[in-house]
Amino acid sequence: THFGFSRIDLKDKQARVDDVFHKVASRYDLMNDLMSAGLHRLWKDIFASKVRPSRGAPYRCLDVAGGTGDIAFRIAEAGTRATEIVVLDINADMLEVGRARAAKRRFEARLEFVQANAEDLPFEDNSFDAYTIAFGIRNVPRIERALSEARRVLKRGGRFLCLEFSHVDLPLFDRLYKAYSFAAIPRLGKLVTGDEESYRYLVESIERFPEAEAFRQMIARAGFDRADFTRLTGGAVAIHSGWKL
Ligand code: SAM
Repeated sequence: THFGFSRIDLKDKQARVDDVFHKVASRYDLMNDLMSAGLHRLWKDIFASKVRPSRGAPYRCLDVAGGTGDIAFRIAEAGTRATEIVVLDINADMLEVGRARAAKRRFEARLEFVQANAEDLPFEDNSFDAYTIAFGIRNVPRIERALSEARRVLKRGGRFLCLEFSHVDLPLFDRLYKAYSFAAIPRLGKLVTGDEESYRYLVESIERFPEAEAFRQMIARAGFDRADFTRLTGGAVAIHSGWKL
């Protein structure tokens, strides 16, 4: 690849990802608004609305790579008192921002923050009704392992949902989008966080992530039923879903 990341091994990849989010944690939410011109809020609203806790009955949701809590807060807001959400992230700095944000909200008691790796979830089999991961899976070195862990911890009848950057399928928009990502985002990153390299990594990781159909097949191969996806914003992002039946 342009930046030579393909030669680093999987352990180095995680170390590099950890370093990126350690550096950007305090500016992470602001950067999302700036980079996506606020669009990430809309994508996350649509994504979180796909989680539908059953009325009144206990509902347990695991939000992996949950970072600063954006997805968990949306699910908690839509849910009832019987909705419990575990926010899991490998990075203590991101979780710390999430905890501080949660403390300002009334549903704090329904959230739990856990530092762990998506490839090795510290939960028993069949323990969640829904598994969500937003803008997280492309950072995980062994995606197949994360998918198989997702399926393991879900209950039968449980829902898998993944929001991730994808590939724009309109030629002109694609050219603009690439120009914007490769030129503007690292510069914006430098201005706001002082760290250009981390944002170069982020853009590069989006570029390398599989096409939606190829990723759908990976999800199906991990054993999920009815694996499917919807593209948003011309394919800039996609919502993938599946069931553990
Ligand atoms: N879900 C949040 C959102 O949509 O705003 C945060 C997304 S952020 C782009 C990616 C997150 O993935 C970071 O917080 C990072 O620490 C986390 N992450 C990276 N590798 C991970 C792994 N192996 N296991 C769990 N979390 C991981």
